[in-house]
Amino acid sequence: MKIIMKFGGTSLNSADKVRNVSRIVKDHSQNNQITIVASALSGVTNLLEKLSKQSKHNSKKIIANELEKFTKLHTSISKDSIKDQKIKEGVLKNILSIINELKSVLEGVYAIGEITPRSRDKILSFGERLTVIIVTGALKDIGISAEPFTGAKVGIVTDEKYGEANPLMSITKMRISEILQPLLSKGIIPVVTGFMAATQTGDITTLGRGGSDFTATILGAALSVDEVWICTDVNGMMTTDPKIISDARTISQLSYSEALEMTVFGAKALHPRAIEPAQENKISVRIKNTLDLTGPDTLISNDQSIIKGEIAKSVALIKDVAMVNIGGAGMVGKPGIAAKVFETFAKEEINILMISQSVSEANISLVIHKHNLENAVNTLELSLLSRGFANRINAEDDVCVIAIVGAGMKGSQGVAARVFKAVADKRINVRMIAQGSSELNISIVVKEKSCEKAVMAIHKEFDMGKS
Ligand code: ADP
Ligand code: ASP
Ligand code: MG
Repeated sequence: MKIIMKFGGTSLNSADKVRNVSRIVKDHSQNNQITIVASALSGVTNLLEKLSKQSKHNSKKIIANELEKFTKLHTSISKDSIKDQKIKEGVLKNILSIINELKSVLEGVYAIGEITPRSRDKILSFGERLTVIIVTGALKDIGISAEPFTGAKVGIVTDEKYGEANPLMSITKMRISEILQPLLSKGIIPVVTGFMAATQTGDITTLGRGGSDFTATILGAALSVDEVWICTDVNGMMTTDPKIISDARTISQLSYSEALEMTVFGAKALHPRAIEPAQENKISVRIKNTLDLTGPDTLISNDQSIIKGEIAKSVALIKDVAMVNIGGAGMVGKPGIAAKVFETFAKEEINILMISQSVSEANISLVIHKHNLENAVNTLELSLLSRGFANRINAEDDVCVIAIVGAGMKGSQGVAARVFKAVADKRINVRMIAQGSSELNISIVVKEKSCEKAVMAIHKEFDMGKS
């Protein structure tokens, strides 16, 4: 088989884990052509994000201090995961030279006193650049031929939307195949940085936080692989986040559309953007646990399996959101208010997660990311209140969204009623409800303090757990 194996930061953040990853690759490399995608060690991209935010104020001394910890983390994992002295020395030399480059970029930002989206992306890409060097070294250490690549070097070309760049798919697919296919045919394993790519003029871009999964399916599409494996720290896509509810169960099969609904609504084990290249090229994606590779996993493919009697497959919790309510008697029967809201938000690039309008038309409620709240209220006040389209705008920033997903919900009656009853029995008030026209998902908004209790109640109501 031809496989992409993507290892997340949680699968690589210790020498033991790096050795475990190289063993997995060795075990599968006899009968398969493997390409690896590696993320930054967990926590590293957050640290780089922090450094990039502070870098215009950070003096050379603070930068040096922060980078010392950074160097220690990467060198100690390399030293402990690679035995061969010569390979180890090569890896350490490479790491130091990459970190020196990072230091120059950070000092440059400090000297200019300004961080641009372009320099931010360049800084964020360093985490992945370091892990591919470590993983390649660890593979060579156990006798595997491997070669490290950046996303840019492997041919992933994007537009200039720094922070959330869009790959130019046809040229990207062609280049990847031209560059990697000859190596695969020779039995060499490419180890590619997740998350980062470059514009046509060679400036580094990133694909959005968590975007290494996207890199994996882009490579999968370009190389027409049999499967893309997303290797992470849990047993596949589960009925809910196992970090919230220990009773969560692995969902063995999902269609692309179900997986998309789940990931958009917070199932972090896969990035939502990763689904499109897989779906368009009909490539199956498996979500696996790196530490339990033969244990339960999830297969995402074209098939939609609805188990008899199963209505809802998963329940997700989305935090860091806020609800905006727009109201006023003047809105009744007046066309175009919702359009006005969409237009205002689109101009400000504010993403709307949920929208619902009451039948009386006297109220529209929207859910957006919390960091957009101030801007959203200010611009709505200007565009709606000042022109008399509405006479009340208020916001709640202590809420969360709970999304229930499953193909079995389509056409099945009483799902919303069961959701309401389950949470009402726990004396939790539902502030807003919306159902997408796909009927694959029902979302509700509740106060943040009761969100985990509400997730547990719904998980239980629809028998999603193991017990
Ligand atoms: P990686 O470092 O491998 O990219 P992530 O932290 O990005 O890992 O994603 C894995 C995490 O996703 C899990 O540890 C889990 O807490 C979280 N998660 C949230 N919802 C779900 C879900 N429904 N199924 C599986 N994992 C989930
Ligand atoms: N390292 C990047 C991030 O933390 C990409 C990823 O992990 O997928 O967002
Ligand atoms: Mg991830």
